Amino acid sequence: MQQLVFATNNAHKLEEVQAKAGDKIKLLSLDDIGCYDDIEETGLTFNDNASIKSRYIYERYSLNCFGDDSGLEIDALNNEPGIYSARYAGKHGDHDANMDKVLEKLKGVENRKARFRTVISLIWNGDEYFFEGTVPGTICTERSGAAGFGYDPIFQPDGYNITFAEMSMGEKNSISHRGRAVGQLIEFLNTQTKA
Ligand code: IMP
Repeated sequence: MQQLVFATNNAHKLEEVQAKAGDKIKLLSLDDIGCYDDIEETGLTFNDNASIKSRYIYERYSLNCFGDDSGLEIDALNNEPGIYSARYAGKHGDHDANMDKVLEKLKGVENRKARFRTVISLIWNGDEYFFEGTVPGTICTERSGAAGFGYDPIFQPDGYNITFAEMSMGEKNSISHRGRAVGQLIEFLNTQTKA
């Protein structure tokens, strides 16, 4: 069985991708390979940040690996919060403050178009490949729903009249930016691991 490092310590993400990858590939987390370094996301694009993670692992461990980076882009805010999504209001991972900041900035703004974007950088046998997934939607004027994380309570994907936070995990994953990017990654890996 092929092994592939996912440059994350987010057990939920790892489980989700492993479920999609099936049994031909065994995913390893940073913990699994004994990497406890704080890999700083200093890039200015999602591609850069995804690449920083995959290259860091490849350079030190010479293992096939991938890293991801995601965020929310809002048209009326020149694609903010973008790569700063996790720390838009200052403190990393303060989702409530981040949503408050977005809602405040969009007060009275008519164009509420936005999208989530995920970029994956895969290093496979020494070559780098990028996979990308987006989901378009609108930013609501208030929060709805309690599921999910991040900006889910204020993001309504196009074609739905509920937010990501009102969807089941399965429903969200089937249309989400991350789900789409991972789908492409899996498709690629399937072509590489055919018997
Ligand atoms: P990450 O790169 O996947 O860790 O995502 C960075 C940040 O983007 C998160 O901390 C969230 O603020 C935001 N984000 C990414 N994906 C989602 C999502 O599916 N729902 C809500 N917020 C998200």
